[in-house]
Amino acid sequence: QAVIDKVSRYLDDHAGGIDSFGHTLDNISNAMGRSQPQEKVRALVADLVKETQSMAQRNYNLESRLGRVATEVTELRENLQAVQREALTDALTNIPNRKFFDARLIEATREALAEGEAMSLVLCDIDHFKRFNDTYGHQIGDQVLRLVARTLSDSVKGRDTPARFGGEEFAIILPRTNLQQAVIVADQIRNGVMRRRFVGKDTRDDYGGVTLSFGVGQYRANEDLADLIGRADAALYHAKREGRNRVSTELNVGDLARAS
Ligand code: GH3
Ligand code: MG
Ligand code: MG
Repeated sequence: QAVIDKVSRYLDDHAGGIDSFGHTLDNISNAMGRSQPQEKVRALVADLVKETQSMAQRNYNLESRLGRVATEVTELRENLQAVQREALTDALTNIPNRKFFDARLIEATREALAEGEAMSLVLCDIDHFKRFNDTYGHQIGDQVLRLVARTLSDSVKGRDTPARFGGEEFAIILPRTNLQQAVIVADQIRNGVMRRRFVGKDTRDDYGGVTLSFGVGQYRANEDLADLIGRADAALYHAKREGRNRVSTELNVGDLARAS
């Protein structure tokens, strides 16, 4: 708003200058129209040159003022982009947050429909994380969250979106990926995290490791996104019940439902 006010003030000032320059030109032109002694004509031309020079100076001033405003606008735009990025990033883990995930999931389903491609959703939850926090403290727990987030980011392709879904839950949107392919991605992440041992930075204390459980669902054309998330969540719950540290899919949930 301040920048707009400033520009509008500059332009008002300048319009005033143009007006008075216009009047001066009218006056000089009228005076020249009458037959005048040479002396008088010379004085009029001198006036004209002076007025034109001062108008050129005013133009120059406006130009440099607008140049400074342009720099300010560029800075504002960069700040805005940084703030937008921050609003969509999880502060602890530095990966996309739930807000970003929700928006990206809508976009990804539209793309999947338009391209006639498969799209899958992976949900993942750290096993017995409460116990881990209770044993080693929240600070160490936070480090584990960061490491899981990094493993997720490092394990997926550029078009995939890993996100922090909730406290110790993560999600990955996998465009152009069917259920079986999504299971492979999830299993790689599961293996990667399972092999890690957490060691205190300075103390070299051994905090052991954590395991992850996964639920995978594949998008069905035109379904409600809550249904897709619900199926992946039910699959995750299945993985927990079956003993954790595993990947279950919506198909497993169907099996269970039929069995019971
Ligand atoms: P389960 O295997 O069934 O998932 O057991 P769990 O203990 O992981 O699940 P539960 O939902 O009982 O506990 C989740 C824990 O995650 C509780 C809380 O201590 C921890 N947690 C959630 N958000 C954060 C966080 O931002 N930082 C830390 N350090 N811990 C968190
Ligand atoms: Mg949980
Ligand atoms: Mg958990």
